Amino acid sequence: PSVAEKYEYQAEVSRLMDLIVNSLYSNKEVFLRELVSNASDALDKLRFLGVTNSELLKDAIDFDIRIQTDKDNGIINIIDSGIGMTRQELIDCLGTIAQSGTAKFLKALKDSKDASADSNLIGQFGVGFYSAFLVADRVVVSTKSPKSDTQYVWEGEANASSYMIREETDPEKLISRGTRLTLYLKHDSKGFADPERIQKLVKNYSQFVSFPIYIWQEKGYTKEVEVDEDPTEAKKEEQDNTTQKKKKTKTVVERYWDWELANETQPIWLRNPKEVSTEEYNEFYKLTFNEYLDPLASSHFTTEGEVEFRSILFIPAIPSTGKDDIVNPKTKNIRLYVKRVFISDDFDGELFPRYLSFVKGVVDSHDLPLNVSREILQESRIVRIMRKRLVRKAFDMILGISMSENREDYEKFWENFGKHLKLGCIEDRENHKRLAPLLRFFSSQSEEEMISLDEYVENMKQEQKDIYYIASDSLTSAKNTPFLERLLEKDLEVLFLVDPIDEVAIQNLKEYKEKKFVDISKEDLDLGDTNEEKDKAMKQEFGQTCDWIKKRLGDKVASVQISNRLSSSPCVLVSGKFGWSANMERLMKAQTV
Ligand code: ADP
Ligand code: MG
Repeated sequence: PSVAEKYEYQAEVSRLMDLIVNSLYSNKEVFLRELVSNASDALDKLRFLGVTNSELLKDAIDFDIRIQTDKDNGIINIIDSGIGMTRQELIDCLGTIAQSGTAKFLKALKDSKDASADSNLIGQFGVGFYSAFLVADRVVVSTKSPKSDTQYVWEGEANASSYMIREETDPEKLISRGTRLTLYLKHDSKGFADPERIQKLVKNYSQFVSFPIYIWQEKGYTKEVEVDEDPTEAKKEEQDNTTQKKKKTKTVVERYWDWELANETQPIWLRNPKEVSTEEYNEFYKLTFNEYLDPLASSHFTTEGEVEFRSILFIPAIPSTGKDDIVNPKTKNIRLYVKRVFISDDFDGELFPRYLSFVKGVVDSHDLPLNVSREILQESRIVRIMRKRLVRKAFDMILGISMSENREDYEKFWENFGKHLKLGCIEDRENHKRLAPLLRFFSSQSEEEMISLDEYVENMKQEQKDIYYIASDSLTSAKNTPFLERLLEKDLEVLFLVDPIDEVAIQNLKEYKEKKFVDISKEDLDLGDTNEEKDKAMKQEFGQTCDWIKKRLGDKVASVQISNRLSSSPCVLVSGKFGWSANMERLMKAQTV
């Protein structure tokens, strides 16, 4: 005899359930996606643990997900043979919010001030397990973990502040491992307890789950059966003088119930790229990474030779709501599989440099050991080669967007991810050649539309040797700086570096196509038009004035010189060749406060 124990939900859970039930009702059907994806996660976990501990798999049950409905009573069962949960895990997982998708969802809710945005968020995020309450009044989870000898039952109701846990006593519900989830549907959601409807939803939302999903379905086959001859008919036939006696048959449909496979289990990355449509890639992306917009670009490739792996990479249309990937690069952006077994999505730069953490994708390797650990990943030569190839593919994709006929595509990309690439200029010397052509800046000749360094170089004057730039805190102050005067007069283009990170990025690049980047606010700016005669004359005429000013200013300036860079302003403060630019100085000051 087992006693049911009552537990209170953590406060956030109550709040989330409240929200789900009361405001996220517009798109109820996502509950199935969430619950199937949990089942699939549970199977992934078991398969992964089974690699090192075969004891866990001793029951030799298949890895699959089964969905059974009871139309008359409005009940849906979702059964998986995955990792299951212990009693403590039931409390931790289903009574507390510590889990990724759900936590992300709550954070986004907090960030969005507009209450009406709430209902859009469900499309964007999984709300996980609790989405069961979108359609069910009562949810019962009967689950058996290999770590425990007892099968436990978790039971919760919509709009309740507590849930129950007890031992499973119903012999019909005992399983040797995994989880059996039972949804008692709300009155207005009973229609979901229909195999046909479930099948459609699985097709829609769970087509990329890599475990078989079976649906308990009524099937039929046709059969010929003999029928008794109608005596009057028989008489007629006799009269018609037929010598041969023919037996009459009739076609009937025999009905029975059975499990029917509802999804294609071949992972999309193992398929031939020629046979996968853009829509399929987009769907896969959205389902796998909890995104709601199509990606900007995708790339599906196989590498062979030294290291063999398959991968699909995606460039998102907008940054993920996790916000600043640069600061927090652990975005679960890359899912690593080894021989189809999901290994991990928790990387920190091992497979992809941090600055590219906005790129998402799956990687399936045949060369890594299944029990690959973080240490192995960090040390592995194979991983180093994989990383190199992945990075190259990512750059190819970005370059592809930049060459799109539709200039707006890249403008959008740049607005969202430009900062990441600039960070790359600082962190990844090895890829400067790939990064530089992707950069975009405003310039003195293009204040509305950003230009590439290639466009700058193309527009250079014949005798111009360097690429000129001015770093400033805004476009307006860049445009109005006196340093520009002479260059504008000579029709030389100057890049406006107005993002704080721009200047450091450019200084790291040092040059582009053998043309040095030159800060026009530094001393010794050489515009290639020095006239020694004239300079000498100027020095003679104004040398004493300079000395006098230097004396008056004392230590406040390093030196006072005659300049040929101004045309209308009388004087300008410049930085020393080796010192910080004024813009840098401003940034540094801002940081030390
Ligand atoms: P998430 O899937 O983002 O972690 P969910 O709310 O969907 O969040 O699920 C919460 C947790 O409950 C999961 O992380 C998992 O530990 C546990 N869980 C849910 N469903 C299952 C299941 N079918 N088998 C095993 N564990 C499960
Ligand atoms: Mg989930």
